[in-house]
Amino acid sequence: MLNIAIIGAGIGGLTAAIALREKGHRVNVYEQTSELRAIGAGFGVLPNAMHLLATVGLDEGVQRIGYSAGTSIVRDWAGNRLPVENWPQKPSPLGSTYAVHRGEFQQLLVSKLPAEALHLGKKAVKVHQLDDSARVDFGDGTSITADLVIGADGIRTAVQEAVGVEVRPTGEGIMAYRALVPIEKLSWALEDQRLAIWFGPQRTFLCYLVSSGKVMNVVGYVPSDRDAAESWSAPGALDELRNQFEGWEPRVLETIDAAESTFKWGIFDRPSLPRWSTRSITLLGDAAHAMVPHLGQGANQAMEDAFALATILDGADPGSLPELLKVYEGVRIDRTSLVQRVSREAGRLYRDFGNDDMTKKAEAISDLITRNHIAGYDAIAEAAAALARR
Ligand SMILES: Cc1cc2nc3c(=O)[nH]c(=O)nc-3n(C[C@H](O)[C@H](O)[C@H](O)COP(=O)(O)OP(=O)(O)OC[C@H]3O[C@@H](n4cnc5c(N)ncnc54)[C@H](O)[C@@H]3O)c2cc1C
Repeated sequence: MLNIAIIGAGIGGLTAAIALREKGHRVNVYEQTSELRAIGAGFGVLPNAMHLLATVGLDEGVQRIGYSAGTSIVRDWAGNRLPVENWPQKPSPLGSTYAVHRGEFQQLLVSKLPAEALHLGKKAVKVHQLDDSARVDFGDGTSITADLVIGADGIRTAVQEAVGVEVRPTGEGIMAYRALVPIEKLSWALEDQRLAIWFGPQRTFLCYLVSSGKVMNVVGYVPSDRDAAESWSAPGALDELRNQFEGWEPRVLETIDAAESTFKWGIFDRPSLPRWSTRSITLLGDAAHAMVPHLGQGANQAMEDAFALATILDGADPGSLPELLKVYEGVRIDRTSLVQRVSREAGRLYRDFGNDDMTKKAEAISDLITRNHIAGYDAIAEAAAALARR
């Protein structure tokens, strides 16, 4: 049994806490915010994460709070249907995709943990490797020690430094406007609840339902010559969003006009890290491998990390930890580097969208995802195989 401290109560940190507790470890989660508020918007729990959540009985909860759109409908900016089926990915043997609101999903994860395991208002400022354990210093002047400290503290990670690695974000020349709109305000969505995407010159408009099908999650990707903040709450102006999609078909404009607010999301890339761990400290999720959002895999990769780590640490004690962390980072660096690279390639295809060959481009994105087996990966089986090979 290990005494484990997780820094960050985001998607990866909470999933790791659930998966590691299932293996009998003592786990505490330390989160900088004093309240877990539903900031942000939606994302898809894709088949590669959905089947992992099922192993800890979370699949029903995801189905309840989420929405499974089944198929999708792909159009060009003028509203013409493009003959692209099953976009963006072909059905996976691992199951279906459920789109969720991040805040509701976070609450679902919290509900699986005992209240005493979650410590709010604890901002980690420094993590130290000791002889055979690690110490975390918090901004409030307190400290804790643990056999293992997991940095699940997102894109602005404080734990990465303790591992002796650092990556700098690079702008992608694009940004996204995000909005949430109640479905009853959208006549087109009341008639057709499938995921809908419109491709136009250098811009993409994406809509899918979250919150049990009650709310439309709206994303408008646009070029940006100045770097928008890498933030989940930076306010945007609705008239700016409308100008970006001026002249697009009525469904797009109806959606923008129905939004009461929008926020801006700067999109940044990062190279892969060469290593994630010391003897008693490791990384997980965006702290280890933040990626561009074009495959929708960021949260899903954090959940893969969580279940892979729990599989590898099943039955672990402090003595076996350094070797097991090497197995974890070995299997996960390979996988997440691939997903980072394919996300980057998909981003290039998105940015190149011109007025012609839109069907070909949309198909190329779909093929890229399917060819690289992104949503068909079984993180538990792969982690168990890596453990057996050691
Ligand atoms: C508020 C918020 C809203 C988001 N909304 C969306 C969305 O709508 N759609 C989408 O696709 N992705 C969203 N994301 C990003 C998405 O959750 C992540 O890209 C992905 O889930 C990977 O999860 P993660 O656990 O690695 O990081 P995150 O989910 O980002 O979680 C990191 C957590 O660590 C905490 N933290 C950071 N630094 C410290 C510290 N020093 N000490 C203690 N705690 C710390 C953060 O407050 C956060 O709770 C959002 C992230 C945040 C933080």
